[in-house]
Amino acid sequence: MKVCFLLGYPVSHSMSAVMHNAAFQELELDYRYELKSVPPDELGALVASELRRNEYAGGSITIPHKLAIMEHLNGIDSSALRIGAVNTIVNEDGWLKGYNTDGIGALRGITEVYGNVKDARVVIAGAGGAARAVGYQLSTVVQELTITNRTMDRAEELAVSLSANPECRGTVRSIPFERDSLRVAIEDADILVNGTPLGMHPKTDETPIPIEVLHPDLLVFDLVYNPIRTRLLREAERVGAAILSGVNMLVYQGVVAFKMWTGIDPPVETMKTAVLGALGGE
Ligand code: NAP
Repeated sequence: MKVCFLLGYPVSHSMSAVMHNAAFQELELDYRYELKSVPPDELGALVASELRRNEYAGGSITIPHKLAIMEHLNGIDSSALRIGAVNTIVNEDGWLKGYNTDGIGALRGITEVYGNVKDARVVIAGAGGAARAVGYQLSTVVQELTITNRTMDRAEELAVSLSANPECRGTVRSIPFERDSLRVAIEDADILVNGTPLGMHPKTDETPIPIEVLHPDLLVFDLVYNPIRTRLLREAERVGAAILSGVNMLVYQGVVAFKMWTGIDPPVETMKTAVLGALGGE
């Protein structure tokens, strides 16, 4: 029996456990996924004493450990280093390596709906952990990336850091998180990404972007997955835009992690169905 884990604090319920255990069961793999609620001051000791053991294949890392875990690992993938956060670790004979699969998962979801994004102009709202991962991945493939954030300094810092990456393909800039700037940027955009928690349960009446600035030529991608259809997505649909829920990113980042832990391609539809079921969706 191999064990995969979610490290966070607290971790009371988890979509990751639901989707990975559903995939392990379907493939009849002798694996299980378990939750580890670890206070920050116990993280180092747990990594040193337990997680290097052979029974552990690896795990997922969530709030508040995505940064803190990095100093306890033996190696960190270059894209996770650039993003500045690890969401997946793999145990190779006691040698723990950190990765970030969030951006890869997001890009896979976007590509499924939008097609090839190389000519796309993208606006991302937010400059936190999730927005950084998605921004990093998109900056390596799209023509134009605009970052907007409530705290302007963080948007600027992210834009500068993504531009400085030799893998950056197009231009990256930052703009204020204000209606007029948003309107101008979104008017010309093909894809809008919400990387803020606005609209997330229980404050489901909130939205990061006013409906007046949405338009039918957009793909609107909300990283928030609970609820599945956020106010932003409902309003995007109302103006005739295409929409993409955060559920897709959640599942695809898990698909990448699953393959790293087991060497096997997981049943994607089983994972998606398990998550949608747990979220009460269709
Ligand atoms: P985070 O690191 O705390 O970043 C939050 C971001 O949202 C920051 O840029 C913050 O701006 C902004 N923000 C927060 N409250 C705001 C408000 N009231 N008005 C305007 N901006 C606000 O959080 P995160 O880990 O990136 O997560 C963000 C969202 O993504 C969450 O809803 C999370 O559930 C979702 N997520 C989804 C997936 C997935 O797989 N679908 C994966 C990870 C995260 P400041 O810089 O000004 O504070």
